Amino acid sequence: MVLHTGRHFLQIPGPTNVPDRVLRAIDHPTIDHRGPEFADLGRAVLAGMQRVFRTEGPVVIYPASGTGAWEAALVNTLSPGDKVLMFETGHFASLWRKLAERLGLDPVFVPGDWRRGVDPAAIEARLRADAGQEIKAVCVVHNETSTGVTSRVPEVRKAIDAAGHPALLLVDTISSLGSIDYRHDAWGVDVTVAGSQKGLMLPPGLSFNAISAKALEASKTARLPRSYWAWDEMLGPNATGFFPYTPATNLLFGLREALTMLLEEEGLEAVFARHARHAEATRRAVRAWGLELLCQEPREYSAALTAVVMPEGQDADAFRKTVLERFDMSLGAGLSKLAGRVFRIGHLGAFNDLTLMGTLAGVEMGLVAAGVPHRAGGVQAALDHLAAEPQADSPKL
Ligand code: PLP
Repeated sequence: MVLHTGRHFLQIPGPTNVPDRVLRAIDHPTIDHRGPEFADLGRAVLAGMQRVFRTEGPVVIYPASGTGAWEAALVNTLSPGDKVLMFETGHFASLWRKLAERLGLDPVFVPGDWRRGVDPAAIEARLRADAGQEIKAVCVVHNETSTGVTSRVPEVRKAIDAAGHPALLLVDTISSLGSIDYRHDAWGVDVTVAGSQKGLMLPPGLSFNAISAKALEASKTARLPRSYWAWDEMLGPNATGFFPYTPATNLLFGLREALTMLLEEEGLEAVFARHARHAEATRRAVRAWGLELLCQEPREYSAALTAVVMPEGQDADAFRKTVLERFDMSLGAGLSKLAGRVFRIGHLGAFNDLTLMGTLAGVEMGLVAAGVPHRAGGVQAALDHLAAEPQADSPKL
């Protein structure tokens, strides 16, 4: 047993490392959630989240994991038996489908190989074929955390429009919001689902819906039962900064701090550029090791995480166990279909050049320690990229 000194490296693709100043912000006496001080906090985080989603429309914040916000998106907009178009991009898309089935919806699940994103042309074709307009929503996972593949949401929007179909567009940004460019209004998304524990640099426990005018209208006639998740219950009190039930007050203190970091200090464009640069350095390392990227479509490479395929005959979980035991670093596991076949490197959230290099050094040391066949030089390839493409000055500073 190796004694672990120093700090644990949490390099799974969420929950991500929480900055100390966000932890300090959470470490605050809990206040009266019906008092005047709370209203300022509530208004600040709701307005800040509109800026992160890039929407003028309402945002709701649930004291729940991302799964709650998935459920909220469906129950507020749909009715029992409604057809929803979903895509097998990976583990999380499959879980969202299962949730939809359990709610009594009728998902049309387009099969996929877990190595690429949704195909906009297939969406257009499916919607054109739906002459009776039975499909009520198209559900897309923007960044599939199980595979490191980012679907092209603006092209999905174009495909729906090209088919002239009225279906709602629901998008899961749980592992992309605050890491990868995303625009709720400009991309014509009806409900965006997000969570606190990834790009927003908070602990797990908050989740979000951003809501278009069309989605709000749909919620007036949607018949799936809902109470805890009901938007109308939320939006009334939210108008003055309050919540219909006890909010996760201390996480909201943390959210206010994280929003200051993302919006006021670094700026979203710089945040996205930082993630893209670290992702490219990671892919260069993987290629230099002679290992394979799971994502097969370069325009869909994720800036938030990279999933790496293990060489034939090597067990990804045994490798991850070695890295954890020897170097005190957690890497993401291969999920369901991919169990044992891939490991995932999270490079999102509170992250900088040295965190990246520590992470990649841990992977390279782990490959050696676990006897995984590879070439040396991945760390060097990443260093070379960082040196060749230095981080631009933040426009906010
Ligand atoms: N969707 C995506 C893309 C995710 O990455 C996750 C969790 O990692 C979820 C949904 C589920 O969120 P939660 O585990 O917070 O309920």
